Amino acid sequence: MRRAAFTRLLAIAAPVPASMLATEVGLTEGQVEAELGRLAASGAISRDDSGAVVAAGGLAVTPARHRLLLGGHGYWTWCAFDGIGIPAALELDAVLDTRCPACGAGLRITITAGNPPAGSPVVGWLPGGPCTNVQDDFCPEANLFCTEAHRATWRQTAGDPPGTAATLYALAETGRQVWADLT
Ligand SMILES: [Zn+2]
Repeated sequence: MRRAAFTRLLAIAAPVPASMLATEVGLTEGQVEAELGRLAASGAISRDDSGAVVAAGGLAVTPARHRLLLGGHGYWTWCAFDGIGIPAALELDAVLDTRCPACGAGLRITITAGNPPAGSPVVGWLPGGPCTNVQDDFCPEANLFCTEAHRATWRQTAGDPPGTAATLYALAETGRQVWADLT
């Protein structure tokens, strides 16, 4: 169901009604409702007031923290990691617009056929704490920083949270594994 929602969001870049998913996965609307409710409770998808899916697997068609131009459509993502990992898994061109939490500078990452630029000083952070709801527990700290120095400054200011630093290349590699089951 999560995969069907992700695939439809990617195809239409607009909210996906539950009825569309019922046809796609061959379940009744009641069964789809139950499954969507379960996924929404864990943060794996987001829904709008009409019950349509507006985000799945980090890819959103309503405003979120980071902007992602992907396959010619405009999206948002929950984490900066989504903005690197999703294009990597799909092997698509993309442009991610995000912001360094240490200094507030805008960061634009241009991705070519799923590959982030080589030799960029930009570094990412993968939070390592407990995660019961990905949007609440993981995404707020899964950001990109101008440089390793800005990442270190942020971590100190944030009270030394658990996690690992990752280059753009490493984020893309990890993303290919994380999103393998959605592509
Ligand atoms: Zn910075």
